[in-house]
Amino acid sequence: MSSVIATGLLPRTAETRPGGLAVGGVLLTELARRFGTPLFVYDEEHLRQRCREAVAAFGPDGVAYASKAFLCTAMARLAHEEGLLLDVASGGELRVARHAGVPADRIVLHGNNKDEAELRTAITAGVRYVVVDSFDEMDRIERLHATEGLPPARVQLRVAPGVAAGAHEAIRTGGNDSKFGFGLAGGVAAAAVRRAAASPAMILEGVHAHVGSQVLDAAELAAGAAAVARFAAEVGARRLTVGGGLGVAYEAGQRAPSFADWAAGVRAAVRGAGWGGAVTVEPGRSIAAQAGLTLYRVGTIKRIEGVRTYVSVDGGMSDNLRPALYGSRYEVFLPRCPGAPRPLRARLVGKHCESGDVIVDDAALPADLRVSDVLATPVTGAYGYAMASNYNKLPRPAVVFVREGRARTVVRRETDEDLLRLDVAGPAELAAPGPVRSAGADTGAPR
Ligand SMILES: *Cc1c(COP(=O)(O)O)cnc(C)c1O
Repeated sequence: MSSVIATGLLPRTAETRPGGLAVGGVLLTELARRFGTPLFVYDEEHLRQRCREAVAAFGPDGVAYASKAFLCTAMARLAHEEGLLLDVASGGELRVARHAGVPADRIVLHGNNKDEAELRTAITAGVRYVVVDSFDEMDRIERLHATEGLPPARVQLRVAPGVAAGAHEAIRTGGNDSKFGFGLAGGVAAAAVRRAAASPAMILEGVHAHVGSQVLDAAELAAGAAAVARFAAEVGARRLTVGGGLGVAYEAGQRAPSFADWAAGVRAAVRGAGWGGAVTVEPGRSIAAQAGLTLYRVGTIKRIEGVRTYVSVDGGMSDNLRPALYGSRYEVFLPRCPGAPRPLRARLVGKHCESGDVIVDDAALPADLRVSDVLATPVTGAYGYAMASNYNKLPRPAVVFVREGRARTVVRRETDEDLLRLDVAGPAELAAPGPVRSAGADTGAPR
């Protein structure tokens, strides 16, 4: 592991100043002081540049931001402003996109088990298309059309191309053994095309596939695109969507293809497969991951002689589930001196009641690390806040966007009140200690 944090992992506006590392023109230690920790910090310029690079590579209307990677009102608005479509995978994500003012015809709806309410809302609002995943979903769309008079839905059909890619079983989605989509195998996808084309409730717009996530080899993504392009050409589809999946570097030494590399690989592959039409991609991680980082405060440093050192911070698996879920690896650095040598080896852990609550298993840190220091884990902008939970009743962190020396809260930190918001029982009356009266007993008091 290198002695200093690799700049390739940091947001693009990151710069070292006398007081430490700044992003968007604001010192990270200053952000921790002002907004508290744990804190998600996004470099707004970086987010916008990534959106523009994607549009430059795939063309206007060629990019849908996969909002599940990181969604809030500000992010939906940013992606829309930069010319991206928005891919939503539930009624809740649709709600946020609409709240942000994204027009319905800039939104596409995904999901392997959309319920009737989600379909009703999306079709009534007039989303650009619904990516239909199953025959049961077709039943629901036809029922809504026949019994409630909903207009015919524009649809793309999700195909399982029999090609899976990605860094972990849980994010490999394109294989034949998958909950997603109509299999190319056995003619299932072809039957789905026939049914959609003949249905008065559906307008068949295209074919869609998504083979996996965190793919660092552009050739793997191209192979997935080729498989579905061949099918799209055969059935005469109007449009082809090849999903997301472009990986990012999480650790020093990893390299990810650029959007231009991805576009070149996909274009060559789909042409080779006989597809001459337009292609849409759905990047999530590759838009948001490196723009974001998480700030934590060190609370406890435990040195176990001859074993290892544990550094505990004030967040953990409730704000970054990926290490526990996928064994994902991260790096960490000390924003007050980002260029310092990092000879201390330690396990960076959270504050949850689980031994698996690990953020960085084998972290390299400066020797003078002390309690109350602010630490930063880079590349947490995707599938971090999006997967955050209230485990152990930790309030979820705030999210701030930084740009040109200014920081603005886009999602506020949860409070203890938020943690009780859904509990129906009111606060306990703090009765004076004394004999307990049975709740059911008639005390004679007026009710
Ligand atoms: C998750 C997902 C994406 C985004 O994947 P990334 O790896 O984050 O780019 C795109 N399309 C679909 C259908 C997805 O399920």
